[in-house]
Amino acid sequence: MASSLRSLVNDDSRYQKSFQIFLERSSEHQCLRDFIHNKLPAILASIGDGKSHLNIIGVGSGAGEIDLEMLSELHKKHPEVTVDNEVVEPSCQQINNYKVLVSQKPDLDYVNFHWNTMTASEFEEHWKAEKITKKVDFIHMIQMLYYVKDPEATVRFFQSLLGKNGKLLIILVSGESGWGRLWRTYKTELCNPEISQCVTTGDIKSFLDSKGMSYQSFELPSQMDITECFTEGDEKGELLLDFLTEVLDFSNTASPELRAGVLEMLRHPDCSVESNGKVIFNNNLEAIILDQLS
Ligand code: SAH
Repeated sequence: MASSLRSLVNDDSRYQKSFQIFLERSSEHQCLRDFIHNKLPAILASIGDGKSHLNIIGVGSGAGEIDLEMLSELHKKHPEVTVDNEVVEPSCQQINNYKVLVSQKPDLDYVNFHWNTMTASEFEEHWKAEKITKKVDFIHMIQMLYYVKDPEATVRFFQSLLGKNGKLLIILVSGESGWGRLWRTYKTELCNPEISQCVTTGDIKSFLDSKGMSYQSFELPSQMDITECFTEGDEKGELLLDFLTEVLDFSNTASPELRAGVLEMLRHPDCSVESNGKVIFNNNLEAIILDQLS
């Protein structure tokens, strides 16, 4: 990452604002919901091994909208079962939003929530320090591996917690998405070296393949309307541009050459399609499902 640039993740308030606009302008959550309602139920049906109690961990849960949809599908498949749900999320604001959401849902009596306001690696340290031996039935990390230093080690640790028939669900942008293309071109300029940031499911699948590990995967088609990014000074466009580049105040801190290059790339046919005056960015995601380590 160019030394004059600051990473968006260092400013939680701006990050959350950008993320909100991203959700409004993209079909991100809709495509996750489609996956959760159409594909995930069969996977959830296979976990648990007939137990009356399930352990779940959500890593980087955000405000919990997606987590609660997964819990509801799980409950449909295992109506008699109680659930311990560890929420691992470093943002206090998001943990609070999640708690509010839970308080508004009347039908979550079967779930016991444990709030861990911490990062994935802090949670790993805590788990090891406490010598916790319980096995976990379902772990999900949706759109969060960008924020860890070593995605492979993170996947390995969480996979090691799975019990019999346990599943680990990873969702990230697909290597074939506009994001993948943007990062292949501008990795050195944009990506924060302290974290993995520019990781796609292509990278995750490469290391799984190199270890001969089997997995299931599903492509989740999604789009993002980035038209406002091309109107200089547009507040929402600037927030979206920060989200796309993961750079804080990108327009005002990037060099004119980098800014022009990124804007050109964003509307390039490899990243976006233009129709009816709109620029629609390829936001395709991919889900990877891993079993317990053999
Ligand atoms: N899973 C949610 C939120 C994705 S946004 C969804 O799909 O809607 C990524 C989330 O990861 C944010 O809430 C952010 O606060 C959290 N996060 C950032 N760094 C993290 C880390 N090191 N470990 C765990 N979560 C992290």
